[in-house]
Amino acid sequence: MNIGFFGVGNMGGPMAANLVKAGHTVTAFDLVPELLKTVEADGVAVAADPAAAVAGAEVVISMLPSAGAVTGLYLGDDGVLDAIHPDTLIIDCSTIDADTARRVASAAADSGRTMIDAPVSGGVGGAKAGTLTFICGGPEAAVERARPVLDCMGKNVFRAGDNGAGQVAKICNNMLLAVHMIGTAEALQLGADHGLDPAVLSDIMKASSGRNWSLEVYNPWPGVMEGVPSSNDYNGGFAVKLMNKDLGLALEAALASQSSTPMGSLAKSLYAALGNQGLGGKDFSSIQTFFKHREP
Ligand code: NAD
Repeated sequence: MNIGFFGVGNMGGPMAANLVKAGHTVTAFDLVPELLKTVEADGVAVAADPAAAVAGAEVVISMLPSAGAVTGLYLGDDGVLDAIHPDTLIIDCSTIDADTARRVASAAADSGRTMIDAPVSGGVGGAKAGTLTFICGGPEAAVERARPVLDCMGKNVFRAGDNGAGQVAKICNNMLLAVHMIGTAEALQLGADHGLDPAVLSDIMKASSGRNWSLEVYNPWPGVMEGVPSSNDYNGGFAVKLMNKDLGLALEAALASQSSTPMGSLAKSLYAALGNQGLGGKDFSSIQTFFKHREP
């Protein structure tokens, strides 16, 4: 298939590369030219502008940082929606608020095009390994149409409901992710403060009732696990500023439904504080540094 791809950052880059590996022809556009050079080495064709990325595309995928970026790409002054062929399936994999997802999908539908939201879980490791979970919202037939393409980048494809439902499920998941990452970090610090080796403590908790994803595949303590951001000065991975965005989306959703989310609210405050310490660009497991003892 010919696939147009927008946003080849930490997640989109390896996702586009996996589509090429599966035999698709991928043409990508990103605002950062250096990132396009990187994916070019993986066999992705580079578009000179957004319109060139959608020309001839049977599927268009976007993996962008924010609702503003998604709205701008499709509906902005130079938006590409009208340049996309009416038979083309549009899949937005960005994590954004459900209302925006519904608004953009409804604009697409009004113009005779089909769009689904398909935010992902699994992190940069999952994007590289092609093991992402796609959490879709949209008409059943459209999700089924997307499935073979999504299968090239992930191992699970769920349909949470109609347009926007994928985004709701995704922010529920990320609120829980923030909570167990923070809990993991404070438990590791407590153990270390009492003389335990964080690697040994991690092994113990992984085999006990504190077991969770942050411990098992994304340990926040530097050196405990190879190939994760904590062992690379918290570079790469899922940025604190993006986690802050997702927690903001969760709190907005909670406000709208009068849901009680005390742990999510606390997690939002802690991640906002971490970002304000200048760590907004670091991976979200850098919350570990928040608990570190420092000399007065
Ligand atoms: P990123 O900042 O590394 O990449 C986003 C890319 O989009 C950047 O390269 C940026 O230049 C590009 N971009 C922005 N506006 C654009 C436009 N109009 N046209 C083309 N390109 C544009 O972010 P990321 O970590 O890859 O995350 C992307 C999305 O995936 C976010 O919504 C994030 O919440 C979500 N997500 C990230 C992770 C993770 O672990 N990083 C995990 C799950 C979901």
